Amino acid sequence: MSHIAPAPRLSTAIKKRPGNDPSQNSGYMRLLGRSSTSNVPKNEDVPPYQTPNYALLAEFMKLDMRDVIQAEYVWVGGNNELRSKTKTLHSSDMSDPRSGQITLADLPIWNYDGSSTDQAPGSDSEVLLKPCAVFPDPFRPGGRNVLVLCDCYLPDPNKPNGLGGPIPTNTRFKCAEIMDKVAATEPWFGIEQEYNLFEPDGYTPLGFPKVGFPPGQGPYYCGIGAENAFGRCVAEAHYRSCVYAGITISGINAEVMPGQWEFQVGPCLGIESGDHVLMARYILVRVAEQFQVRISFDPKPIEGDWNGAGCHTNVSTKEMRAPGGYDIILKAMDRLGAPGKQEEHIKTYDISGGSDNTRRLTGAHETAPITTFSYGVANRGCSVRIPRMTEKEKCGYFEDRRPASNMDPYRVTGKIMETCVLPDAVN
Ligand code: ADP
Ligand code: MN
Ligand code: MN
Ligand code: MN
Repeated sequence: MSHIAPAPRLSTAIKKRPGNDPSQNSGYMRLLGRSSTSNVPKNEDVPPYQTPNYALLAEFMKLDMRDVIQAEYVWVGGNNELRSKTKTLHSSDMSDPRSGQITLADLPIWNYDGSSTDQAPGSDSEVLLKPCAVFPDPFRPGGRNVLVLCDCYLPDPNKPNGLGGPIPTNTRFKCAEIMDKVAATEPWFGIEQEYNLFEPDGYTPLGFPKVGFPPGQGPYYCGIGAENAFGRCVAEAHYRSCVYAGITISGINAEVMPGQWEFQVGPCLGIESGDHVLMARYILVRVAEQFQVRISFDPKPIEGDWNGAGCHTNVSTKEMRAPGGYDIILKAMDRLGAPGKQEEHIKTYDISGGSDNTRRLTGAHETAPITTFSYGVANRGCSVRIPRMTEKEKCGYFEDRRPASNMDPYRVTGKIMETCVLPDAVN
């Protein structure tokens, strides 16, 4: 009988990884064109290799946390991605030490390594996080744990709280200035966030066969049944998590492409719209992480006869909602249609200065061509749709259908106010 133990598996496995060339390795992280079948990874060849043991995690989630509050600070990184890290706080330090909602006043300014997020040089890497909205944390329920949306600033020891100016990716700062100027008009926004679910391979939309394409669009929009609705668990878990967190979520629906869904945030007042949309996106990506599904906010994730993903932005002011508001809406249409305005808005309506939207705003698939501004009543082929009821009642709101799914809600809501409302506020 041999007493030689087999070599531990790990030591041999770690030594050499064939094909460990970073330029090739990144391949599976991209969303590949559906037509290219070479180099397509199989789900079992990309992480995760195991399903996390959530039943075991649930045991740890039951542990008594003493007086600790876990505050998850969330911010936008250098490439429009959301990031977060956790800070331990103590109930005894809160303005209400025993119970009640944690408020902004309870949350200290914090910092992170901006050189790891493309937001600062390594030699001067500190970026400050300033809390701007607080939500109960659906991922750490039961206590006083919170999600804390932050915007980002340069440090400046000579300024109050050590806060310097906003960093370039802090688009909330400018949006807040605009919203302040138009505050008297009480702007409401309702944002319809569309997104696509993908298998871990980043190549296969949920509901797509491994090779080729599913039956064409038609049955999937608001569809039910195993052959039509793909990833409902993600959409549903997200919806309930948003409600728990106090996000103003107004509904969800399955969309036109398989594995495509939408949630609506609103109506929200002013800057709160961007805050709630960003936190709803954060919650979505966290929920999908748990289900081991990938979220795509790409405006046209699959080329061809498949709907793109948008972020229709519904807008009204107090005047538009009041009797006779239709005239104010038509005035806003004139302003959106003024020379140069289409180009200006398109630049703002995705994260790539308009080039992502050129793939989506083709004039087909319920979109208007990217080149010209148009509006119409109940017309989903226009840049802006005025709902039938708004025309009938001569007041209400309008829907800007141009913003892409990956848009920055602070830039979009700010831009719409700048064009449609600010000219009156300044006078
Ligand atoms: P669609 O018919 O285009 O699919 P949805 O029902 O998906 O529209 O989304 C409409 C959004 O507009 C919702 O978030 C809703 O809360 C919001 N909304 C409703 N009324 C107003 C209003 N007066 N101003 C701004 N947003 C509004
Ligand atoms: Mn909708
Ligand atoms: Mn939609
Ligand atoms: Mn819509």
